[in-house]
Amino acid sequence: MITKTKSIHYCEFKPCKKKNYSKKVMEKHEAICFFNPANKVACNGCKHLEPTKIDLDFKDDSRQVNGFYCTKKQICVYPKKAERLVLKYPETFEEQIPMPKECEFFKSNDLLFANTDFDF
Ligand SMILES: [Zn+2]
Repeated sequence: MITKTKSIHYCEFKPCKKKNYSKKVMEKHEAICFFNPANKVACNGCKHLEPTKIDLDFKDDSRQVNGFYCTKKQICVYPKKAERLVLKYPETFEEQIPMPKECEFFKSNDLLFANTDFDF
């Protein structure tokens, strides 16, 4: 029998529930975590933010991922987590903007926006 004890690393930013055996993976995650105060965006908790689907197209590569639409500005907005996709699919993101840190149109939806599943 082989018995192993392993450490589990948890994201320290509540209410994020991400965990991993790999410390490296969690360090990378925390840097881009939606709930990391350094990544705070006005869209978090805003009633103008709606989930949507966006098509990623580049050369022969095409897929659909979860995205976000601002009903006030009428434009798709993307979280920090999507930045590597912006580099990979520049055409898709040409008409999108990064989620702003401050926004004059912010209106609370009275819920904490807890969707950390961006599928990216
Ligand atoms: Zn997290």
